[in-house]
Amino acid sequence: MARYTGPVCRRCRREGEKLFLKGEKCVKNSCPVAKRPTPPGQHGNARPKKLSEYGQQLREKQKAKRIYGVLEKQFRKYFEIARNIPGVTGENLLRLLELRLDNVVFRLGYGRSRTEARQIVRHNLITVNGKRVNIPSYQVKVGDVIAVRDKSKSLDRFKEVLDMTNGRPIPDWLTREAEQLRGVVAALPTREHITIPVKETYIVELYSK
Ligand code: SF4
Repeated sequence: MARYTGPVCRRCRREGEKLFLKGEKCVKNSCPVAKRPTPPGQHGNARPKKLSEYGQQLREKQKAKRIYGVLEKQFRKYFEIARNIPGVTGENLLRLLELRLDNVVFRLGYGRSRTEARQIVRHNLITVNGKRVNIPSYQVKVGDVIAVRDKSKSLDRFKEVLDMTNGRPIPDWLTREAEQLRGVVAALPTREHITIPVKETYIVELYSK
């Protein structure tokens, strides 16, 4: 399964804001965006250019892809699905991304970052309704129970993860049973629940050209 393997913090610097792609480092002073909020590359310190309309649309799309760790081809597929279901296309798109299993594991606090959550899913440590699922893009549904496998609950890995994520708020559309390392999809996320800093209408405009 294809994924981005280049320098991660560079992606935040490119967008000029924290995308929280690394977990623990993102909340520390060593975060490169906090230390050096300029775009990467030798012209990074030049005065910022005003973005064209296309440039703004492109940046919003790149930001969403980077936050959820999705590559172009798959992102485009999400857009096509979003366009063909009733409702507002931009909101549908974000909802599809939020309902990815790796994102849900991250939102429940069982991964410090979406990248780590994705790895946890790939390593067969997660069950959905009691069955092992190792597909990060798996779409969860309302009522699904997402849990860390019984065998894996005692792993030091989860103790460390929970130490870091325990103070992180859980979105309203999920309920968490912290002791059991389990969570339930209580409702579909609406736009107010999805707090990522992306203007989805720009993405819709970009793909609708
Ligand atoms: Fe982005 Fe986190 Fe790296 Fe900061 S530490 S630049 S928020 S990935």
